[in-house]
Amino acid sequence: KRPRVVIVGGGAGGATAARYIAKDSKGAIEVILIEPSRTYYTCFFSNLAIGGFQPMSNLAHSYGKLASEYSVTVVHDWASAVDREKKEVRLAGGDAISYDRLVLSPGIDFIKDSIEGWDVTAQTKMPHAYKAGTQTQLLKAQIEAMPEGGTFAMVAPPNPYRCPPGPYERISMVAHVLKQRNPTAKILILDPKEKFSKQGLFMEGWETHYPGMVDWLTDEFTGGVQRVDPNTMEVVMEDETVKADVVNVIPPMQAGSIAQQAGLTNEKGWCPIVPATLQSQMDENIHVLGDATQNGDMPKSAYSANSQAKAAAMAIRHALTSSRAFKPRFSNTCWSLISTDNGVKVGASYVATDEKIAKVDGFISQNNEDDALRKQTYEESLGWYAGITTDMFG
Ligand code: FAD
Repeated sequence: KRPRVVIVGGGAGGATAARYIAKDSKGAIEVILIEPSRTYYTCFFSNLAIGGFQPMSNLAHSYGKLASEYSVTVVHDWASAVDREKKEVRLAGGDAISYDRLVLSPGIDFIKDSIEGWDVTAQTKMPHAYKAGTQTQLLKAQIEAMPEGGTFAMVAPPNPYRCPPGPYERISMVAHVLKQRNPTAKILILDPKEKFSKQGLFMEGWETHYPGMVDWLTDEFTGGVQRVDPNTMEVVMEDETVKADVVNVIPPMQAGSIAQQAGLTNEKGWCPIVPATLQSQMDENIHVLGDATQNGDMPKSAYSANSQAKAAAMAIRHALTSSRAFKPRFSNTCWSLISTDNGVKVGASYVATDEKIAKVDGFISQNNEDDALRKQTYEESLGWYAGITTDMFG
């Protein structure tokens, strides 16, 4: 009987792992992917959809090729529980699927009750747009419908969270839209952090391309967000209350709830892993990938999840079919678009030490780069998107 790998979550980590295990084991391992959605909308490039640089349809990917070309069995259902004793995953639909190895790449969930007044039932009034699809479209529509001279407010998340530059790339894209449609509108970022990813590059970009439009306010100025009211569209801070036309609430995050349920999370709500193999520190038969991990130095990005998935796939094939395993090397780059043809990036490579996935070298775009270089950086990101989505879905 062939050994079986069950993968929960068909996103950046899970789809890559499914494809690589199936492809490289050439049928020696049975691969079952559990994912409720038939269409995966990438969060990566969803800010570009808000900015009008990508149609929503470009973000949509299906699992057809994983099934037809790589013989992955794709089950469209929710994993509702993991029985680690019996080594099986229970599905919301009632079935149970046993595994030799389990891969969890469920992404993030928002921490319940972390912002008073906001819960997922409020997401139609105050969207997060931090899981892509209808939330992205809703936020885009709200921005386009803002009254002249209106206010867009973002409640930014505390560390650690999915895609460190994501909120600030979003601000750039919102500013790009408003500059054309609604140039007297204002953008407020209400931020619990003292600093953020690529801050110097974003701030320079906002100053140059959207002068006077963006205000970044940390808790030092506001006293911190105390609560929000989706009915009145107010954000209440210690020192003032803001009434806005669009409120983009990006709540604090933790590992996707199935990882909590399976007992694989630490006190901070993330999954500690063995750096070289991505095995859970709580269960050697389970590998955790992507945003859900606490891995050391790698940021929560699709690039990271994809890179980790390949290392885990190699370790799993080694464990189940004795194929060779090498020391993994990981890499990540996060590109962000600031305005038309104006891309910036930050990235690094990493190795597995005993303690963590450790950064070994890095690079970042510089202030004052010329237009040609910024355009080249943007074009590089288009190439990356085409490459990673093919790497995930075939
Ligand atoms: P995901 O890709 O979110 O996949 C998780 C999957 O698991 C989902 O499809 C979900 O349906 C499924 N799932 C969850 N629970 C269950 C369950 N119980 N049963 C079955 N299935 C389940 N990254 C980059 O590298 N570059 C970028 O430019 C970039 N831009 C971003 C912009 C924004 C606005 C955002 C929000 C994110 C961005 N990211 C970017 C981050 C990137 O999207 C995530 O880091 C990446 O998707 C993480 O991969 P993952 O596999 O951990 O989770």
